[in-house]
Amino acid sequence: MTEILNSLRMRAKRSGAHLSGAERLLNVDELESAAVAMINRALDHPRGCAEWISLKIEEIPCEQLQFSPLPDLFDNRVASWKQGRDLASSFLLDAGVAEVACRQAISFLNNGAAPNGQSMRGAMLIDAETGQRLEPDQERGVRASRMDLLPETRLHLSRELGKAGLNNAHVIEALTLAAKVIQAPGVVAELCWSDDPDYLAGYVASELGGYQRINLMKPAGEQRGGRAFFIQNQRLQLDALIHWLEYQPLMMNRLGHIHKPRSWQVD
Ligand code: AMP
Repeated sequence: MTEILNSLRMRAKRSGAHLSGAERLLNVDELESAAVAMINRALDHPRGCAEWISLKIEEIPCEQLQFSPLPDLFDNRVASWKQGRDLASSFLLDAGVAEVACRQAISFLNNGAAPNGQSMRGAMLIDAETGQRLEPDQERGVRASRMDLLPETRLHLSRELGKAGLNNAHVIEALTLAAKVIQAPGVVAELCWSDDPDYLAGYVASELGGYQRINLMKPAGEQRGGRAFFIQNQRLQLDALIHWLEYQPLMMNRLGHIHKPRSWQVD
């Protein structure tokens, strides 16, 4: 890749609270259509129309760009959101997150992780041993940014996800984000469910376990969602971790394996 790349980021608010966000890495030619798509997304959000939108474009020094494959995707089907959260906890335990930290993270996301009881703009950073929150600002959280898929990788991914019945923007964006997060220095795993009231799926991602999609993680209509990045408690390296998540440009250039759906028995 020799062209100049740009980071395009969108943030939108409604009633003073976070509504929507998005990030891409693009050539100059691609900026206009991607910016229009981001504006439309903010104006047409399931939680309401944006009242405030910010778009930021910054050139990325090419020598900083790194490349990475996407994780393997596993498609887990459960019968209820409670079962989905239990399954998510078991994936987190497998990834090395302590039980207390799983419980804390699920409870924060369930109750709205921002101080006002709503969703945060970014992710919580959670100590994987103690469950303590480590992000410096609990309203903003930490946003993973400056990551994207190479255009040919995006096409290939859409095709393969289509065969699995999963070709939608939620999965594509979340898989791209998770690919960056699980490589971050000190991150053990990620937990997510959406704040979109109509999108009930979520996932656990980790370097060893891959991207474990779970079809039900919250009740229909629930507006609270979010992300937890579980980290080994390296307080001295917290600044470096946050900087890497926010600023290191990372382009995904290869697919992982997309596994067949797995149905889990109701307990
Ligand atoms: P979404 O998957 O877009 O529904 O986002 C769900 C929640 O995940 C948001 O409310 C944020 O708290 C968090 N989130 C979204 N995008 C990012 C990101 N790039 N980095 C960190 N957290 C994010």
